[in-house]
Amino acid sequence: MKIANLQYIDPDRPSGLAAGGKLDREIWEEFAYDRPRLRQTAAAIREVLSTGQTNAKIDVSDDEEASEGRTLTRLHKSKERNRALVKKKKAKVLKESGKLACEACSFDFTEVYGAHGEGFIECHHTRPLHTLDAIGKTKLSDLALLCANCHRMVHAKRPWLTIEQLQKIVTQNLTATSFY
Ligand SMILES: [Zn+2]
Ligand SMILES: [Zn+2]
Repeated sequence: MKIANLQYIDPDRPSGLAAGGKLDREIWEEFAYDRPRLRQTAAAIREVLSTGQTNAKIDVSDDEEASEGRTLTRLHKSKERNRALVKKKKAKVLKESGKLACEACSFDFTEVYGAHGEGFIECHHTRPLHTLDAIGKTKLSDLALLCANCHRMVHAKRPWLTIEQLQKIVTQNLTATSFY
């Protein structure tokens, strides 16, 4: 039935089922003319499902439905919650720079919240979803430090922003305000 919904959207094929939702159209527009990424994404979803690496306890209900599927979004989030690795990443950055600042907007929790904010910062996994494999190890260099706001902004809309795109947006807009 899902195939028939997509067939209805496909301008090259007659008929199909008109009852498909908005997401069907979004998926069609994103993947119809990018077969290699479609293939990679499908393979990644299959792999994750077969290894059972998605952590059902991770709540992604307030995230926008991902075109790559909740399966891969969950994998992304679970990789960001790899405590040992997050700890290592923070220790490395702290040692090198003396602080834990957001890579996009430079927000430093300790600067604003004092002792209460010490050691607080979120980790974002920077590899595109379709390149994530369930058992593949996350490297320290795959993680970026982001404040809670910037991390939400990365995931707010599809496609997710890269750190470079986010930095650009922040610098462009921060010059216009004096929030920090
Ligand atoms: Zn930030
Ligand atoms: Zn993230």
